[in-house]
Amino acid sequence: MVRKLTAVALSTLMITTSLPAEETERLEIIGADILIPETGRVLTGQRILIEHGRISVIESASGRRQDASTTRLDLTGLTILPGLIDLHSHLLLHPYDETSWNDQVLKESLELRTIRGVIAAQRTLEAGFTTLRDLGTEGAAYADVALRDAINLGIIPGPRVFAATRAIVATGCYGPSGFDPRWDLPKGAQVADGPVEVRKVVRQQIAAGADWIKVYADYRRKPGDPSTPTFSQAELDAIVDEATSAGLPVAAHASTDEAIRRAVLAGVKTIEHGYQASEEVLTLMRDHGVVLCPTLTASESMARYSGWDETQKDHPRITGAKALMKRALKVGVIIACGSDVGVFSHGDNARELELLAAYGMKTEEVIRSATTIAARTLGKENELGRIAQGYLADLIAVKGNPLRDITVLRSPVVVIKDGIVVIDRR
Ligand SMILES: [Zn+2]
Repeated sequence: MVRKLTAVALSTLMITTSLPAEETERLEIIGADILIPETGRVLTGQRILIEHGRISVIESASGRRQDASTTRLDLTGLTILPGLIDLHSHLLLHPYDETSWNDQVLKESLELRTIRGVIAAQRTLEAGFTTLRDLGTEGAAYADVALRDAINLGIIPGPRVFAATRAIVATGCYGPSGFDPRWDLPKGAQVADGPVEVRKVVRQQIAAGADWIKVYADYRRKPGDPSTPTFSQAELDAIVDEATSAGLPVAAHASTDEAIRRAVLAGVKTIEHGYQASEEVLTLMRDHGVVLCPTLTASESMARYSGWDETQKDHPRITGAKALMKRALKVGVIIACGSDVGVFSHGDNARELELLAAYGMKTEEVIRSATTIAARTLGKENELGRIAQGYLADLIAVKGNPLRDITVLRSPVVVIKDGIVVIDRR
């Protein structure tokens, strides 16, 4: 039954197979230019051999005879690069101009949201994003863990998912907010206060399947209010200590200088958004090796939802995002691709790369932000984000050279995950 359903979905989406890697034969890729993110160089005349879902050989293609047991994929005219990684997604959200965040959290059933998440995962993979760090289900319980597991089991197509589950917020510091205090409404994340309680919810989330812990280190208290720090230093320390003890890294939503400072001192791995970060705090991030995910596409999308378009002068959200990028690039903080997709349409993740480039990052660095740097941030630098021997065979092929034109990443022609060709639009 599962197989049959999968087959229907796959044929509609041009996904050719979802067989686990060990069931497939060897795959040989020839003819493509190979973009090596770590050097920013393009190799020609090479063949890539994939066995059991991993890259086994990269060597000169000249003089090789095709082995009968090997499927040959001739990608002449295309550039191949590692599958892209988005470090900030919400598979359980859909664009706010379709349904407001409040209504998604309060009115949509968990079942409906999960079904939407299945389609979101398919669209993500079709778009060449083969790995996501999904940073919170926003009220949809542990549905991200279910999506991750369904993808890993081959039940549905999708990227590899690193799940953060519910995320942690302090009392009175998350939405839905602004209602009469008599109503005790469910929140878009798990509420906890004090070092003891935050340790408990970290343990609960890990037991339920979290790969990452996400904490909201600042937030607005009421709609329209500015963000202020939420958790104390002691609470953030307890969250990171508890997660680290179980081997999990922590991501912090933080825009204010003080919340970022506390989160960095607590030992988080990434800062999400970071818009008000001063040069001093960005320097602190750099010195602690903390990665910034600037979620530029979320800012652009929110500006659009308020009626802005590019014929007008920059919306304050865009001015803020550009200014942050300028300071971050000046200081030299590590920047990774984290788009906040879900605020905008799943499958449009590549917009983040276009904006990183448009706001001043070199295209070579932009590609690294969604490959080598993102993989390192995930602690998967020996498995993901590179085209090298022993690496997982997550690859995309595009028309043209993304180093010259980043927008070609928007429409991958071929997508390979775990050594399986999942999209072939040639
Ligand atoms: Zn987010």
